Amino acid sequence: SIMPATLSAISNGARRGILFKGGVHLENLSHLQAIAFDKTGTLTKGKPEVTDIIVADGYSEEEILLKTASIESHSTHPLANAIIKYAKNTLKQSFLNPESMEDVAGWGVKATIDHEEWKIGKAKFVGAKAAENFANGAAAQMATEGKTTVFVQKNGEITALIALQDVVREETKRAISDLRKQGIYTIMLTGDSQNTGKAIAGKAELDDYIAECLPENKVEHLKHLKEKYTNVAMVGDGINDAPALATANVGIAMGEGSDVALETADVVLMKNDLPRISEAITLSRRMNKII
Ligand code: ADP
Ligand code: MG
Repeated sequence: SIMPATLSAISNGARRGILFKGGVHLENLSHLQAIAFDKTGTLTKGKPEVTDIIVADGYSEEEILLKTASIESHSTHPLANAIIKYAKNTLKQSFLNPESMEDVAGWGVKATIDHEEWKIGKAKFVGAKAAENFANGAAAQMATEGKTTVFVQKNGEITALIALQDVVREETKRAISDLRKQGIYTIMLTGDSQNTGKAIAGKAELDDYIAECLPENKVEHLKHLKEKYTNVAMVGDGINDAPALATANVGIAMGEGSDVALETADVVLMKNDLPRISEAITLSRRMNKII
């Protein structure tokens, strides 16, 4: 049977917008030593906007944008949504239909359109060396500003660089500093580049970050963290975060996250409110003392 102290902690949590899917998660939270965070949609608002487009000589921005957005309109990635929105505001034509299209999780999208082979995604997806040299190394500078960079490749040649900016949530820094005061180690796991990861982790004031994580790497990193710390939580919002949420001792989902994340998580932050994590830990520690 459920203890009165546990019941009281669960109902206290619910009043504050913290949903515990059972008493055992409170018990696990009370012994927590580390928390891993997803970046996009968790530490940041998850609504990136296009800030820069650099097009290679001999190509028109219009063509690049039309074909890129036409391909991205078949992807559900937050970066895809931002590119589509930007294109709709800029272009007069309606989108084209790709002959084929493949969403490669953690890398980008690949498509055939007008009998041309297009690839849109991170540097390693289009060739790291060529991406690094594109436009005198413009991507590195943009990334140090915290922007996410996406390369566009047509028939094997890089034709454009698109930079997108997402904002760190207003309450993120406070949430992280509250956790630090409780002795919790904080780390960000992101699929984004080294420079972008470093910039965002710096803005959020996390203890550490791991960049260029493929979806399957996030699970590996969590397993390593679990060897080092007694209990480890993972906070995420996306479909891609579900395996990591399941691997953590406590999976925490953002309330406005994907259905899969909400189903997989042990704890749900009903209002996407990161400072509630620290409150949840306080509740769990108090409960543990009473029991
Ligand atoms: P995160 O873990 O930060 O959410 P992802 O693993 O989803 O990142 O993606 C990693 C990188 O792959 C992105 O930063 C981007 O460069 C590239 N990428 C992935 N999907 C897309 C897409 N649909 N369009 C453009 N780039 C993409
Ligand atoms: Mg996310």
